[in-house]
Amino acid sequence: MGKNDTQLTDITHWIAGARVAGTPARTAEVFNPSTGDVTGLVRLADASTVDAAVAAARAAFPAWSETSALNRARVMFKFKALLEQHHDELARCITREHGKVFTDAKGEVQRGIEVVEFACAAPQLLKTQFSDNVGGGIDNFSLRQPLGVVAGITPFNFPCMVPMWMFPLALVCGNSFVLKPSERDPSASLMIAELLKQAGLPDGVFNVVQGDKEAVDTILAHPDIAAVSFVGSTPIAEYIQREGTRHGKRVQALGGAKNHMIVMPDADLDLAADALIGAAYGSAGERCMAVSVGVLVGGCADAVIDKLKPRIAALRIKDGMALDADMGPVVTAAHRQKILGYIEQGIAAGATLVCDGRKHTVAGHERGFYLGATLFDHVRPEMSIYREEIFGPVLSLVRVPDFAAALALVNAHEYGNGAACYTTDGGTAREFARRVTCGMVGINVPIPVPMAFHSFGGWKKSLFGDHHAYGEEAVRFYTRYKSVMQRWPDASSRKGPEFTMPVNK
Ligand code: NAD
Repeated sequence: MGKNDTQLTDITHWIAGARVAGTPARTAEVFNPSTGDVTGLVRLADASTVDAAVAAARAAFPAWSETSALNRARVMFKFKALLEQHHDELARCITREHGKVFTDAKGEVQRGIEVVEFACAAPQLLKTQFSDNVGGGIDNFSLRQPLGVVAGITPFNFPCMVPMWMFPLALVCGNSFVLKPSERDPSASLMIAELLKQAGLPDGVFNVVQGDKEAVDTILAHPDIAAVSFVGSTPIAEYIQREGTRHGKRVQALGGAKNHMIVMPDADLDLAADALIGAAYGSAGERCMAVSVGVLVGGCADAVIDKLKPRIAALRIKDGMALDADMGPVVTAAHRQKILGYIEQGIAAGATLVCDGRKHTVAGHERGFYLGATLFDHVRPEMSIYREEIFGPVLSLVRVPDFAAALALVNAHEYGNGAACYTTDGGTAREFARRVTCGMVGINVPIPVPMAFHSFGGWKKSLFGDHHAYGEEAVRFYTRYKSVMQRWPDASSRKGPEFTMPVNK
């Protein structure tokens, strides 16, 4: 299919500051989803390649962890400038392998840069607490010390931003890092590695192993890896949490989602319709914060659907490099088939197919992995299209009588990543924000992705572990807390052995 073998890009690992082929082993095809062509072959690491990356990270850890936080942050400052310089190049690389539109890919890089900016505050973030003279000439203070080698395992849908949720904070906290990106769009990880090196990061502090389950399983069992950050689907997140903790590692594992957007009858319905369209079909629905369920309250459904239909008809679905594209293809032919399967299930279960995206083709790109926007009405909670994450351009609408029913519906779902409510009533909005059981809430904001200086994460089956990603949560995840009590007694204050609990009287 597509390019001839000699033209294919050889997508390698990055170990100890250089591209590395690893032991000759398996490879996987990487596609340009817009054309359907194979553009590269990514090397899939075996255990010995993962070992080499971990050994490089372990060797680099002592010097890096002893580097001052200020100097670690200075590397991030330079990295940020390089990311800005190479912003378009990174976005093109994302569009080429993921398929999302170029302008959206640029947004992804920008949201990653914002985490780098936050990491530049490392000296402030790592400042700890000091209590002077807690009794008997003793001072009590705390330290936050790095864990050692930490790993990140990331999904296909944000090949640049999700790794950047992890390593900037892990690195400035003094850890060394091994990234295992998605094998579906692996090239951005190598650009990132090159830029970190140019920014002055010592070799071995950041490494990339390309791979699949074999690489992941080696990471999970590796005795020299202290912690694992994972972002991906829920079944794998559960597996990562279970296996990682079984091997004594600290684990945060962010999983899948089924994000609901409630539309109250008092909402501005044009605003709500625009929000549903952008949040359901942006990035072809391949966002963990995509809205995949619209909950239409108290008789506003027909009016909302009348507003959605022309907006869907007007969507510009084409090669993501076209600057006027709203939506590109989905990531692989196999994923396209899976989404088609869900649409069939929705029809068979009796949902009303209002807009059918199954036959959408793009002239000149007939082998691309395109789908049009699909809209279902009268979806019920027992249907698979409601229960399961489709991760494609399919929006399900559920009709409910009132706000209480809408909230109960959202809260009964097993996922709890994000949820939004469109209303003009402050009381409803406040009640929604307080009562909804999910990690990220939008009030008239369809995709409430927190800023870099807050933290990202869901509840229920959308996150396994205690810590959300980036922000101050990440500083806690990537450091160990240590309390120190110190006394410098002079001869006159020596009391000899003490056998009772020292207390302040
Ligand atoms: P995925 O779970 O298939 O893959 C994620 C990572 O796990 C990849 O690096 C992959 O190589 C690895 N992996 C896949 N199968 C494995 C297995 N059997 N054993 C060990 N490792 C395995 O996810 P994906 O399809 O790349 O990404 C889409 C999913 O990620 C969606 O479910 C989406 O909701 C989720 N996601 C969640 C968030 C969040 O913040 N909660 C953010 C982005 C994406």
